[in-house]
Amino acid sequence: MCVKLTGKHRGIGNLIRYYIQASEPERPLHFYCSSSGNAGLACVSSARQLGYPATVVVGTNTKPLMLAKLKAAGATRVVQVGASWAEADRHLREIELKNDPNGIYIPPFDHPKIWEGASTMMDEIADQMCDIDGPDLVVCSVGGGGLFAGIMQGLDRNYDRDVKVLAMETKGADALNLSLEAGELITLPSITSIAASLGALRVSETAFQQAQRSHVVSAVVKDAEAAMGCWRFLEDERLLIEPSCGASIVVCYDGRLKKLLPELTSDDKVVIVVCGGSSITMDLLAEYKQTYGRCVE
Ligand SMILES: *Cc1c(COP(=O)(O)O)cnc(C)c1O
Repeated sequence: MCVKLTGKHRGIGNLIRYYIQASEPERPLHFYCSSSGNAGLACVSSARQLGYPATVVVGTNTKPLMLAKLKAAGATRVVQVGASWAEADRHLREIELKNDPNGIYIPPFDHPKIWEGASTMMDEIADQMCDIDGPDLVVCSVGGGGLFAGIMQGLDRNYDRDVKVLAMETKGADALNLSLEAGELITLPSITSIAASLGALRVSETAFQQAQRSHVVSAVVKDAEAAMGCWRFLEDERLLIEPSCGASIVVCYDGRLKKLLPELTSDDKVVIVVCGGSSITMDLLAEYKQTYGRCVE
């Protein structure tokens, strides 16, 4: 097994860099994002690293932990408005962006430059695995499908053969799985999973199309399993991750991967994308263990 660390910076950072390169050098661009999670954080830190300001508009339900992280990352402003992401996003588009002619909207997952950035992960994995002819399976978590679409693009670029991909979601944030079942893109009425970073109500059209390819398998785990993935991974690898990432990690435990893909053999090379996430603390993980420990052990 090969563990590869990643983050949202590959995708969102690539999008921000694209806008900077495409605009006149003197134009004082200002980036705006409405994600209170890792996408917002990646927007702020990528923009700051490239020397540009970024503002994040988030709902009033945003955790103090993430507000503090956004500010610490150097956000020009963190605006709290609206009861939900949709309301925060509307405020961003209709007020903030309208008032700033140099404002640029940064979506969390639905942009070709985000997929292009995320796809570079597969180039590095292909390099690192060149002696053993690459992976047989890649496991990743799916929110709106930006990471997944990037992985598919990167695999197509690096391999002539179809490398299997296991697309993981949690129950209550399973927009891709339900869309595949329905045979059309569906929109969830709400997110009911603790895996907030997978909480897109609807996946992108591109992610939905890619997921219909025959070598992609979509699977859903319970919140309890995603949480268990977090504490087991912390014990085994000493890395602290969110349940959004735990949803992929948990396939390593108690024979879950074999159950999902019975054709897999012990010779197959499996890459699990450790998407990580910032919205987690030891206290929160302890709470998850308290709540879910008995359901999974
Ligand atoms: C954003 C994110 C994902 C995947 O998001 P997509 O919207 O599918 O690109 C997975 N895990 C974590 C921790 C994330 O922050």
